[in-house]
Amino acid sequence: MYAKKAPEVIEEVQTPVWTCENETCNGWMRVNFVFQDEPNCPLCGNTMLKESRMLPVLVNSTKTNSYT
Ligand SMILES: [Zn+2]
Repeated sequence: MYAKKAPEVIEEVQTPVWTCENETCNGWMRVNFVFQDEPNCPLCGNTMLKESRMLPVLVNSTKTNSYT
């Protein structure tokens, strides 16, 4: 039997992201998900800056069917 179940804490880590250079735009994306060296903002098409943000850790819960 488990005594107490700890509340689910979402761990956050410094994650490299691209952020839109347009200050009025909220566009950003995780660097890991972008395969271009200098991506453009998907929202406004502006150039993007590399920064880092505290973001929830991505847990690989979606299992790819590598074998059938
Ligand atoms: Zn933008």
